[in-house]
Amino acid sequence: MNVEFYSHLQQIVGTGQCQTEESMAAHTTFRVGGHAEYFVRPSVDQVQPVLALCQEYGISWSVIGNGSNLLVGDKGIRGLVMELGKMASQISVKGDCIRAEAGALLSQAAKCAASHSLSGMEFAAGIPGSIGGAVVMNAGAYGGEISQILRKIMVLTEDGQEKTLQAEELGLGYRKSCIPREHYIVLWAEFQLHPGSLSEIEGKMAKLKEQRTLKQPLEYPSAGSTFKRPEGYFAGKLIQDAGLRGCQIGGAQISEKHCGFLVNKDHATAMEIRQLIRHVQEEVQKKFGVWLETEVKFMGEF
Ligand SMILES: Cc1cc2nc3c(=O)[nH]c(=O)nc-3n(C[C@H](O)[C@H](O)[C@H](O)COP(=O)(O)OP(=O)(O)OC[C@H]3O[C@@H](n4cnc5c(N)ncnc54)[C@H](O)[C@@H]3O)c2cc1C
Repeated sequence: MNVEFYSHLQQIVGTGQCQTEESMAAHTTFRVGGHAEYFVRPSVDQVQPVLALCQEYGISWSVIGNGSNLLVGDKGIRGLVMELGKMASQISVKGDCIRAEAGALLSQAAKCAASHSLSGMEFAAGIPGSIGGAVVMNAGAYGGEISQILRKIMVLTEDGQEKTLQAEELGLGYRKSCIPREHYIVLWAEFQLHPGSLSEIEGKMAKLKEQRTLKQPLEYPSAGSTFKRPEGYFAGKLIQDAGLRGCQIGGAQISEKHCGFLVNKDHATAMEIRQLIRHVQEEVQKKFGVWLETEVKFMGEF
């Protein structure tokens, strides 16, 4: 550990908001992953100084939100992990627009929208990601997608400049954006919603929640749909038809309830999860000639 670097880090964010050798299992919904060398939870205003400090000391950095689309390797992450979460989670409403800091949860933003009788975000209420992660992934469900409601975002560029980008500039497509490629850090996002009826909005959110609970294996840790939907197919159906329902490597399992979900059934390691992902990709390729691309992102060393 670089003691000088860590001491400066503590000065920026406060001693309570940074750790060394922090287990990433506690910060990912898969509940697996080794340690982050340095782990910090900055507010939006602290992101820039933290980034500058990393550059000054030559420390590599990465950003996470709620860790709900991540598989972190068992050997952990060298350098600093910045978690944009509770410390960067303010939400404000102006007219039909909602502005949310990157660390706010989608569910909180959707709830806030509903409480102002603003419609458009109902689809997102059950997605367990942060605003930052949702913009990066162009998260979507039940016919809705971030790209349909996003107006603009504020990012920090790699060299520490703040930049406002319109939604059209983000290359938003099916579960993708240009943000990782450009190494941008999302600081906040603004969404354009429209007036609706509170009871209808709440009714829709409750209905979608019920569908999730019915269909998804929410009783086990996972990162949601492991694979992207290949064009013309459904990943879950291909996996099921390949005879892989319930297939297990160590503690990692293809969910019996929903084959599109790979779950941490029993103390799986990241390596076991990665091996099972590979096995599924090879079997589906062999049987149907379709290569399943992962939606889940890999981070750190395996
Ligand atoms: C039970 C379950 C159900 C799910 N259902 C859905 C669903 O219906 N639809 C859907 O689209 N997804 C779903 N997901 C996946 C996941 O919730 C989404 O992809 C979500 O948008 C990820 O947000 P996050 O904050 O957890 O991002 P993380 O997993 O923390 O990070 C994802 C990526 O975004 C980057 N990132 C995060 N924050 C920032 C930031 N501020 N600036 C720059 N980069 C950043 C990370 O570096 C990483 O590359 C589900 C997951 C689970 C566990």
